[in-house]
Amino acid sequence: MTGLLRTERLEAGYGTMQVLWGVDLNVSGNETVVLLGSNGAGKTTFMKCLMGLLPSRAGTVTFRGEEITGLTTRARVERGLSFMSELGIFPDLSVAENIDLGALFRPRADAKRRAAELFELFPVLKEKRRQAAGGLSGGQRKMLGIAKALAAEPKLLVMDEPSAGLSPLFVATVIRSLAECRAGGLSLLIAEQNVKFLELGDRVFTMEGGRVHFGGTPAEIQADDGLRRAYFGLGQDDHVRA
Ligand code: ATP
Repeated sequence: MTGLLRTERLEAGYGTMQVLWGVDLNVSGNETVVLLGSNGAGKTTFMKCLMGLLPSRAGTVTFRGEEITGLTTRARVERGLSFMSELGIFPDLSVAENIDLGALFRPRADAKRRAAELFELFPVLKEKRRQAAGGLSGGQRKMLGIAKALAAEPKLLVMDEPSAGLSPLFVATVIRSLAECRAGGLSLLIAEQNVKFLELGDRVFTMEGGRVHFGGTPAEIQADDGLRRAYFGLGQDDHVRA
């Protein structure tokens, strides 16, 4: 596996409040990394920094061998970073138009081919492609968020709590869709609190107080009783399927 994304001593915050305190994290090609952390740990702030939505105060972000720390969000998207966010869905536009917007910086022919592929991956979106996105259910909107992010044909998809607000059934559907993307060669960085997402992870990092504290395989996190208790509320005899 080759190095895809690397952050070194990344620091960021809001006004006088510092949130990230020197975050070192890396993602390789064809790898899925899950970032676990409780509420307020700094996961969203970290992802915003990766995407250039929030300036970092110190440290570096390197993507595919190039330092991108000072680049705009658009320049990062053009280089193959994509961020899944429900906030990016336009409710008055149709499902198909929203997906088209995700491919805004791609050549037109590529965007059309990609949209067709995405409708195969998400049949429910194909069915509703002419309907306004505002009429989708929470789970369907999540699918649209993923499809829109994938329309840019990223090398790395960054996702902030894809399970938030979803029923267990939809969580399973989202995980299945992501597993398919992963099998197709996409790398994923997923901030989550839902233990189910460990199924997807090659490696897991924990973040607390704006610092990364643990990096290892899902099996290693399961083997550590303290981490199991902290993140999954499970004791020694409970078993997490990962
Ligand atoms: P959650 O799982 O609850 O989404 P998180 O790990 O994503 O949490 P962040 O959203 O990065 O955590 O928040 C980290 C800290 O930064 C929190 O103390 C939060 O209150 C603060 N914070 C986040 N966004 C802003 C903002 N726009 N302005 C000021 N403070 C902020």
